[in-house]
Amino acid sequence: MFDFLKKKLSEGVKKIVSAVAGKKEEAQGKPLEEKLEEKKTIEAIAKKFEEKISEPKVEVSTERAHKEKIEEAIIETPAEVEEKIIEAEEKLIEPALPVSKAEEHIGKKYAPVIEDKKILTPEKILEPAEPKKLGLIEKLKKAITEKEIEEKDIAPLLEDLQTGLLESDVALEVAEKICGDLKNNLVGRSLARGKVSEIVKESLRSSVHEILNQKPINIFALAKEKKPLKIIFLGFNGTGKTTTIARLGYLFKEKKFEPVFAAADTWRAAAIEQIEHHGKKLSIPVVKQKYGADPAAVIFDAVKFAESKKLDVVLADTAGRSHTNSALMDEMKKIIRVNKPDLKILVLDSLTGNDAVEQARLFNEAVGVDGMIFTKVDVYDKGGALLSAAYTLKKPILFIGVGQGYKDLKEFDVDEVVKNLV
Ligand code: GDP
Repeated sequence: MFDFLKKKLSEGVKKIVSAVAGKKEEAQGKPLEEKLEEKKTIEAIAKKFEEKISEPKVEVSTERAHKEKIEEAIIETPAEVEEKIIEAEEKLIEPALPVSKAEEHIGKKYAPVIEDKKILTPEKILEPAEPKKLGLIEKLKKAITEKEIEEKDIAPLLEDLQTGLLESDVALEVAEKICGDLKNNLVGRSLARGKVSEIVKESLRSSVHEILNQKPINIFALAKEKKPLKIIFLGFNGTGKTTTIARLGYLFKEKKFEPVFAAADTWRAAAIEQIEHHGKKLSIPVVKQKYGADPAAVIFDAVKFAESKKLDVVLADTAGRSHTNSALMDEMKKIIRVNKPDLKILVLDSLTGNDAVEQARLFNEAVGVDGMIFTKVDVYDKGGALLSAAYTLKKPILFIGVGQGYKDLKEFDVDEVVKNLV
């Protein structure tokens, strides 16, 4: 889901992390490869140190093989190497044996192995009399972390990220918010290499979460409180309103509620037959009138029907097109005035991208929208339209359509989406 947006975010993270890390390398005055080698070596020594402390009786030959394994296992990216160094260092703080004993042991038994491998500065680490064996690791860590991140280091990368977001249908103001948050989280900070990636990701996660996490609505909880719960679905033709109403009917029935459909799209050819077809398949009653009838009256009838039959929910379809947008909006206003729905849910086709946001704005300004459902997410990999609409309307996304079957409507789980995206 939203693979394109995910890719753009991931590219942004990688570029920023490597730029910040690269700057630290530069400050160290050594080429990246050389520094990387050095760190790998130190890490291997640190590991060996730790192992020797806890298992002093390992044979030289075994140890040599083990060291080779460690070297193979070292992850190649600078950030991860740094993390490993810190990890190894932390473990070394609490050795299983007294440090002096372990050092003596290593100094005697493993110096040849290390010399043989031409490891950098082994003497310092292996010399038994030297009390502070971790100084080298500590120094290296300090050296790569003490450079502060400046705005100019990341400005072009934030621009790249913003372009990637715009390409993913993220509206300009939303892209600016995400990049602005990231800038505030990085500039002026001195971060350990291993932390840069986490801080960048955490900033993106937090921004996306804030954008999507609008006050949630649980329609099933509401249906328990209010009988009948009146939900009116709004949206242009072809966005997937009728299909969505059918899928919600299916979900309500799954949860043991009794819904009724109101066939209030009296404008589009075959709209009434379409919803009747779903009603028949799902054993859900449909209240209808003739084409051209007043949709407000159709919904009114459906509410009366639900009340008389003690049904739980009225799911009302509406028309998506009239001769003008203003005529459509007037029609919606009348429907709402007459029926006072509990919820007005806007159905948006995610494939329309930025246009979906414009539609959302239009409906919200005209009649007010409580929540949104995005359809066709199964064939939309950009993802940005959802962020833009939630941010623009400050309204929650309740469900997403992920196919054409009755079961293809999923509750929109903000935490899961954020976790998947970043
Ligand atoms: P309406 O005019 O708003 O009532 O739209 P419909 O419910 O008739 O849907 C228009 C088309 O979109 C139909 O072919 C649906 O099968 C299709 N559709 C609706 N929701 C989804 C979805 O989540 N995924 C996919 N792939 N197609 C969908």
